[in-house]
Order: sequence, then C-alpha cells, then structure tokens
Amino acid sequence: MKIIMLGAPGAGKGTQAKMIADKYGVPHISTGDIFRANIKNGTELGMEAKKYMDQGLLVPDELTVKILLDRVANDDCKNGYVLDGFPRTIPQAEVLDNALNELGDKIDFAINVDVPDENIINRMSGRRACLSCGATYHIEHIPPKAEGICDRCGKELILRDDDKPETVKNRLGVYHEQTQPLIDFYEKKGVLKSVDGTIPMEDVFQAIVNILGE
Ligand code: AMP
Repeated sequence: MKIIMLGAPGAGKGTQAKMIADKYGVPHISTGDIFRANIKNGTELGMEAKKYMDQGLLVPDELTVKILLDRVANDDCKNGYVLDGFPRTIPQAEVLDNALNELGDKIDFAINVDVPDENIINRMSGRRACLSCGATYHIEHIPPKAEGICDRCGKELILRDDDKPETVKNRLGVYHEQTQPLIDFYEKKGVLKSVDGTIPMEDVFQAIVNILGE
C-alpha cells in the first residue's frame, strides 16, 4: 500500500503518518526527518537543506527528489510506504509518478488532512520536537510526561526554528502556492481522500482507517 499524506504544515499529517505506518506495517518516510538527520550529522546535504528550511522555504526539487527516490528503492519499501512531506510540488509528484510508472506501480491513496489556516499557527507554536530520536509533541495536545523532556529518549525538547511564528507564516504561503495544487493533481488521478484534521487525533486516524480498510 503506497500512501501520500497531504496537508498544510502543522495539519497533523506526521502524527497520522506514524500511526498508519505502525498499523499497516509500512515504513514512514518523512523528507523533513531525512533533512533534519543530515543537518544533525553535519552532512553536505544537511548544510544545503538548512539554508532553505530555516527560512520556511522548500529545499530545491533536485536535492529532494534524489533522496526520496533513493529511500523508496530500499528493500523495506517493497510492500509500500507512507510518505509524509513529499511530494510538495507538482514537479516532485510527476517525478514520483514516472518512477512508479516505470515499475508498473502507482500511489494507492493521497490523504489530505484538512485544517484551516487559522488553526495552524496556533498549533505549530505549541509543537516540540526531540532532535535526538525524532519524537514530536504538542504542549497542549500531546504533552510529554515531564515538561521539555522526551518521553522516549530523555533528551531535551525544542521548538524547531521552522515552527517559529514568522517562519510558519512563510511556510503557509509556500504551502498554498506550491503544495496545495497537489490536491487537484491527485483528485484527477482518482486517489484523493480528504479527512477533517480539526477533530481529535484518534478520530482523524479512525477516519483514515475507514478509508484504507482494517
Ligand atoms: P516537514 O518536517 O515535512 O515539515 O519539513 C520541514 C522542512 O523541510 C520544510 O519546511 C522544507 O524546508 C523541507 N522539506 C521537507 N520535505 C520537502 C520536500 N518534499 N520538498 C522541499 N522541501 C522539503
């Protein structure tokens, strides 16, 4: 099962993607996580990506597409995957589509987690992330057991630079301009399913399970 998560930054698609990956036993692939891991390890790719990420801009397609295609070529992707944060532009979607076509394959579902802009800025300023293990929290909705400390690995939680309010505004602008057109793109392919992302996280997940099947 090959699934794409669509939605504005902060819509909760990462949380849902992880839950889908757990339930259906497919890898959760987040291009944002791959970039952050590269930044943490000080790789050349990481240094290049950081220049864009810190401003709320998209990393250029050439860089992003290559890391994604390399990742989905791994053995663990044979039975499918859930993509979180890719594609984010029409050219990225086309490259993925062509790569899958060549294999006689296709995306099964593009799930749009729909949340109005008004809710987004509020949500993102409450997000906290663990740079060590990648776990994510929200100070109101998914608080860690001890404030500021990761439940999973005990390291300090931070507000990512790209979740700061001024960066979030840029990211929303970029989303509307470059990523939202993907909703039409996948609608035309007949694989788009939208879920209301404003309801509690467990209910969003149930709506997704209803779409994907038990
Ligand atoms: P995310 O964790 O998915 O919100 O991604 C964080 C940041 O990484 C984004 O704001 C972009 O700067 C960059 N990024 C992640 N995925 C992509 C992508 N598919 N195309 C371009 N930039 C991306």
